[in-house]
Amino acid sequence: MVDTRTDPHTFRWYGGRISVDFTATLTGHIPHTVEHLRTPADLSHWSRAARLSDAPLPDATPRALDQARQLREALHRTFLHAAKPAPDDLDTISTWSARSLPGPRLTTAENDAPTLCRPRLHLTGDLLTLIARDGVDLLTGRHSHRIRECAAPDCTLLFVDVSRPGRRRWCSMDVCGARAKMAGYRARRTRE
Ligand SMILES: [Zn+2]
Repeated sequence: MVDTRTDPHTFRWYGGRISVDFTATLTGHIPHTVEHLRTPADLSHWSRAARLSDAPLPDATPRALDQARQLREALHRTFLHAAKPAPDDLDTISTWSARSLPGPRLTTAENDAPTLCRPRLHLTGDLLTLIARDGVDLLTGRHSHRIRECAAPDCTLLFVDVSRPGRRRWCSMDVCGARAKMAGYRARRTRE
């Protein structure tokens, strides 16, 4: 069951990595999940909100939407079970990651210094490849053991804990962290 009351364009950006933020396009627990990628156009909305593209992706079709959701779920499962990932999920991630992408270019800025010019994405396949590569980079990098799920019982968002002590518990201090603080405060007042 998908909750249709929530604005599908309310994307979450607490993950710290583009691949982790992409998994946040499906939120909540079964049976009250909220799908934020409901139509092919939502792929373009997400891509623009992530500042990866300027214009709608022309090949955002129902098939591309299916593929995007498959990649998302493969990434989500693998992030949660990074120590023992499912081979099928690694295949899905690798298939997208192995595609070629337009590379960065150099242009000259006003002072004639070379400036890095990152390519804007024009196709859904490029978007999924970029996301999958970020996932590969994260899963094989120094923060691979720091991918966590928010500690709030009703929140399923993942994040990468890059804090030095490594004790981050909430997807966002302003949302789930603040709610937990308030709940603790109320519980203490009830006991007093
Ligand atoms: Zn949370």
